[in-house]
Amino acid sequence: MKLVTILIPAYNEEAVLNPCYQRTVQVLRSLTGYYFELLFVNDGSQDDTLTIIRSLRRLDPRVAFVNLSRNFGKEIAMIAGLDYAQGDAVILMDADLQDPPELIPELLKYWEQGYDDVYARRRSRNGESWLKKVTSARFYRLLQKTTRIPLQADTGDFRLLDRRAVQAVRRLRETQRYTKGMFSWIGFNKKEILFDREPRAAGSSKWHYPKLINLAIEGITSFTVAPLRLSSIAGSFVSLFAFLYMLFIIVRTLLFGNRVGGYASLMAVILFLGGIQLLSIGLIGEYLGRVFNETKHRPLYFVDEFNGEKVEASTPRQETIRRETS
Ligand code: UDP
Ligand code: MG
Repeated sequence: MKLVTILIPAYNEEAVLNPCYQRTVQVLRSLTGYYFELLFVNDGSQDDTLTIIRSLRRLDPRVAFVNLSRNFGKEIAMIAGLDYAQGDAVILMDADLQDPPELIPELLKYWEQGYDDVYARRRSRNGESWLKKVTSARFYRLLQKTTRIPLQADTGDFRLLDRRAVQAVRRLRETQRYTKGMFSWIGFNKKEILFDREPRAAGSSKWHYPKLINLAIEGITSFTVAPLRLSSIAGSFVSLFAFLYMLFIIVRTLLFGNRVGGYASLMAVILFLGGIQLLSIGLIGEYLGRVFNETKHRPLYFVDEFNGEKVEASTPRQETIRRETS
């Protein structure tokens, strides 16, 4: 029988943990063909979250937990959970019941059909402000424009990942994590299902606007070097224009003279230096972009199949061969 891990990051969720556990277990009762592991990641909560998780584990051996040393934020809590998850598949779910556990059977159904990443897309967002909906739609569109990788709009972290996809995400060890972008980046066979996002069951959202803006900037800057490219393109344009204008002033002064003494030479120096500076900043930006991408130490690719056989994402091919032959 296959083992499925349900991964739930929790930060100050004492108000919802018990209802979350009850509702999830209710759903799991109908799924007899699987073993389940409910893996909670306590992300340095200051309330009774950890105590509740401990008592759940005493009652139910399927409950496991990772207790982080302090609050690291949801992105890190998720990779910690993925590192500790033992399942053949991992379902990522919020603790606040905004991601309905009733969807688990459907996620599993598509997993059985061979999909590696079954993600739940929000058909509607109840209980979210008009402003949040508009800004988030804008953000996704902007981010998609900067990259060739197809991004999933209106999709959170609620999804089922096959072991291979989990292994793939585990190999992305960058510290500034934008996990949603990573799910897109790793590729593999994706399947979308739709759901209605409910308002939070209890407790309060840990996301307020400053934090959301941070996540958005994180998203753009950790996902693409497009802003750097933009500045080097703008720099080239401006410096080209400055150079042409400098030539124009020099020629005009030579032909017609200029009553303001020193104007032409001053202008020429300013434009020339300004242009050179912009160009070199752009140039530095280009190299910085490369350094940035290299320091992520990402694997170059993941393979879906080799000669028709599904390939694990944990180690590159040559290492597998070496291990097999030694
Ligand atoms: N969360 C976390 N660490 C944090 C903030 C949030 O583990 O620093 C968890 C939180 O407990 C919840 C999930 O991430 O399970 C989503 O958080 P929240 O509901 O506050 O975000 P929203 O649904 O409002 O986007
Ligand atoms: Mg929530």
